Parts: sequence; structure tokens; C-alpha cells
Amino acid sequence: MIPFTYNAPGSIDEAVATVDPMGPAGQGGAFLAGGTTMLDLMKLTVVSPPSLTDIQKLGLDEIVQEGDQVHLGARVTMAQAAEHPLLRDGAPVLSEALWKAASPQLRNVATLGGNVLQRTRCPYFRDNVSPCNKREPGSGCAAIGGINRLLAVLGTSENCIASYAGDFANALILFDAVVETERPDGGRDIAFDALHLLPQDHPERETVLEDDELITGFRLTVPEWARRSRYIKVRDRESYAFALTSAAVALDMDGDTVREARVAVGGAATVPWRAEAVEDFLAGQALTEEVAMEAGRIAFEGAQGYEHNAFKIPLGQRTVAKALLDVAAIDQTPTGGGSE
Ligand code: SF4
Repeated sequence: MIPFTYNAPGSIDEAVATVDPMGPAGQGGAFLAGGTTMLDLMKLTVVSPPSLTDIQKLGLDEIVQEGDQVHLGARVTMAQAAEHPLLRDGAPVLSEALWKAASPQLRNVATLGGNVLQRTRCPYFRDNVSPCNKREPGSGCAAIGGINRLLAVLGTSENCIASYAGDFANALILFDAVVETERPDGGRDIAFDALHLLPQDHPERETVLEDDELITGFRLTVPEWARRSRYIKVRDRESYAFALTSAAVALDMDGDTVREARVAVGGAATVPWRAEAVEDFLAGQALTEEVAMEAGRIAFEGAQGYEHNAFKIPLGQRTVAKALLDVAAIDQTPTGGGSE
């Protein structure tokens, strides 16, 4: 690990004033929350921030209901959120996305703010040797012609096909969430679906956040009918594995007919991926197996498969279809905390 400066400020103002916007190696300082991604990447020297600003003294660790909205502090842990009744009972898709990620040990320390910013698991990004436009802009992409089984088929560019590795973000995006941030010159709200950037020509730039911008929390509106929701995750093993494909679904139903659908796809896209064309297609439809399969097909329109990951397209289509049918089959009573 390359030496760095460690700071542990006692206030948000101090924290955003402390973090270095740009260090000598062209990398800015970084905030440290749970550290479950950051410290790994520092040990691998994939990233080498000149300073870490630890936010553990800043609070930001509560979940509260504010009118018709739920507020999640950025330092709420994954385990804490997964077990909270506002998520577990009010929107099981959020709780399940958290329970089905990582391991119990990681969920006890990883925070929601860090989780939505977790980096890709593309092996070429992490090996620190191969050409990788995300790690070293302009160097090329070893994955496009290499081993790309786990990488993305939606939202890719000729410069990067890295898949977004998280689960929670794919559920959060269903609820028009807002990201609250602070900077030295003041805070702002960012629509969650505008937080992550497609790789396009600059895969090294993953979000709209500035170097000295700290996520302090999230606000989301959870409708009563979100009790009817699920997160389906397909992976190589049933625990401690990243998604090959996943689907986050919430349905407002009138009998067998969809009044409103919220659908997102994970494991197969470069960013958290809300499937709005699917939502438009489903509104007013009776949710039969045939309609669910067509919804899955629509979710992957425009997808581009590569040598080893083209299987994700039919698998993802069926994942969306299964999630829709599973959600349509449940009533709106609480479903519990999910399982690993
Ligand atoms: Fe790097 Fe992206 Fe290519 Fe992976 S897919 S090697 S992260 S540029």
C-alpha cells in the first residue's frame, strides 16, 4: 500500500474542507466509510489517494420516516438497512437487494453511501497490469477481446464493458431516490438515476460527484404498494457472489392487471439500469407469462453480447420475466427480510 494521510474530522464541514481535491499523482483524496472496496483497491495499488478522510465521526447513520419519504443516512450499514421495517416490510425489494449482496461480515461494516459507489469487479481493472481505460485512460480495454463472462451487455461502449457490481442501487433506482451531498461551497440534491455515468468515451469517470463531494444521505418515496416487490439475483453460487443477472421489480396491481410497474436490471449493465420501456409496456396489461416474457425481451433491446457473456441476454430476459411473475403472485403483506 502506498503511504497516505489519514484524517478523522468531527463535522461534515470539516470533512469536505479536508479532502484533497487533487493529489500529486493526479488522484484526489478520498472519503473513507466502511472501506470494504477502497482498502482492497489501495492494497492492490489500483487506486492510491494521497489522503483518506474518515467519516465515521459524522453520524449520518439513521433511517427515519419524513412525511411520505424515507431518509437513509449515508453511513447506515447494509445490514442495518436490510433489517429495518421501513425497508423490510415497506419495500422488500430494497431489503432483499441488501441481504443478497456480499457476506454478513461485509454487510455489517459496508455503508449505503459506499455501496452505491462500489467499483466494478472487472478482473483487468483490478490486476493493475492489463490495458484498462477505467484505471488508466487511453490504455485500451483488455476485457473486450479477453475473458468477459461477468461483464456488461447493456450500456457498454467501445472503451469499456465493465458491469456495475452493486445490487442495492438497482432497487433504489425504482423509487426516484435523491442523493444528498455536501461540498465546501454547499450541498446539492442529485437524482439517483443521474448519479452514475455511462462509460462512453470516459470510463474513468463513473459518477457526477466531484472529488470533494460527500454523499450524506438518500431520500426516497416508497408507495404503499411497494410492499409487493422483489429482488431476484441469479449467480454462480447462492451466496457471496456477484449477479450474473438480476431484476428489481415493484408492481401496483388491480387484480391481474398492472396499474404501475417499476423494473430495473442488474448484473448485466454498466450502471444501475431502470427499464422504463418495460414499465411503459406493462401499464394496463394483464400480467400473463407471455406478457412477462415480452417484458424481458424489451428490457434487453439494444443489448450487445461479447464472446463469453452473450448468455446474459436470454438469462436476463428470463430473470425479468420470473421477477414479474413472482411479484404478481404475492399479496401486499410483508414478506420478511429475505435470505442469503
Ligand atoms: Fe477496464 Fe472497463 Fe475494459 Fe474492464 S471493461 S478492462 S474496467 S476498460
